Amino acid sequence: MEQTKLYELPPLPYAYDALEPYISEELLKLHHDKHHAGYVKGANAILTKMDKARADGTEFDTKATFKELSFQVGGNVLHTLFWKGMAPAGKGGGGEPTGILATKLIEEYGSFARFKKLFSMTANSVEGSGWAALAFCKKTNRPFIMQVEKHNVNIYPNFRLLLALDVWEHAYYPDYKNERGKFVEAWWNLVNWKEASHLLDMILAK
Ligand code: MN
Repeated sequence: MEQTKLYELPPLPYAYDALEPYISEELLKLHHDKHHAGYVKGANAILTKMDKARADGTEFDTKATFKELSFQVGGNVLHTLFWKGMAPAGKGGGGEPTGILATKLIEEYGSFARFKKLFSMTANSVEGSGWAALAFCKKTNRPFIMQVEKHNVNIYPNFRLLLALDVWEHAYYPDYKNERGKFVEAWWNLVNWKEASHLLDMILAK
């Protein structure tokens, strides 16, 4: 049986300057190397603490620990999805989805334009720090737009994520200051629809 592991910071799937002019090299570096790395470090610190408690035969504060663990792990999972869900503009990033994903979005939202509008509204109306995300529910065969608070609140258990947009201030402030809406609008030029479609295909194939 494989041994237990800790989390690892995944490398970005493109160069730090690859998402310019929509996300600057400086911002991408800071976001990936400091913020995302911080959640990986935070999650691992808790797992290590739990491993140590087991070895020492001691207990720990389960309420605080598991709440914190959910936040840190959620941060890692969502950031990983966020990076993979983008590609350089015009080179895999932007445009519209094709195939089954396009069909599902049009079935659910009426048109791609309406989906885009609702998703942007979701991102722009996150209170404080959070995310807009797209998930798929196999039971109903429907895509769901999600508004996640922090990294872990309003998650639908068992729904599979296809796409995530970070709207924490750290995700846009260095480039866009307080204008979150401009960042959200810019992000559409980077969306990697091929990756989101691939994730949906894998869910439907199971
Ligand atoms: Mn972030």
